[in-house]
Amino acid sequence: MRKVLGLNSFSEAFNAKYARPTPRESPAIVNSPAAPVKIRIQDQSLSFDYAHFLPEIEKCSTIHGHTASLNIEVVGDKVGGGLVVDFGLLKRVAREVVSSLDHRILVCDRYVESRDEGSVSIRFKGRGGDYRIVAPSSQVFISSFESTIENIAEFIAESILNRMPANVKYVRVEVSEGIGKFAESVATRE
Ligand SMILES: [Zn+2]
Repeated sequence: MRKVLGLNSFSEAFNAKYARPTPRESPAIVNSPAAPVKIRIQDQSLSFDYAHFLPEIEKCSTIHGHTASLNIEVVGDKVGGGLVVDFGLLKRVAREVVSSLDHRILVCDRYVESRDEGSVSIRFKGRGGDYRIVAPSSQVFISSFESTIENIAEFIAESILNRMPANVKYVRVEVSEGIGKFAESVATRE
């Protein structure tokens, strides 16, 4: 007589033959409230255009321009029910910082010959000889640093961090000044 297996005994026999050993249980994932969290923004409205010159670098020592775009990461502790920082606030702050550079001539103060109420006189030696530019002050962004993409990234990261709430630990900024050219800077709280 053929032996007919009941459902239970069939599955026992099947498991005995085919079932894999039970894996060890993974440790439970605990979402620690103290763990810092990273948020990131990338937005078309955060791109900006600027003109500059770098007298120390032959190719860049004439006045020329770039269109820059930004990636911003913010790391901090969650507060107020689970936010590091409101995306709206971060975007607003980033736009404020970027608008101080947008469509301006970026000039290191060492090339400022003189300035009065309404205008800035700029002078430097560059490609082809001497340059002298007089421009309205409102169209010039004067900095203590040479306007390399590295220094611009650092300026943006620090300026954003200075305007962030105290729970934010650091701001990382990646700036692109054209196809395939990036600089990254991280500003951290002391
Ligand atoms: Zn350039």
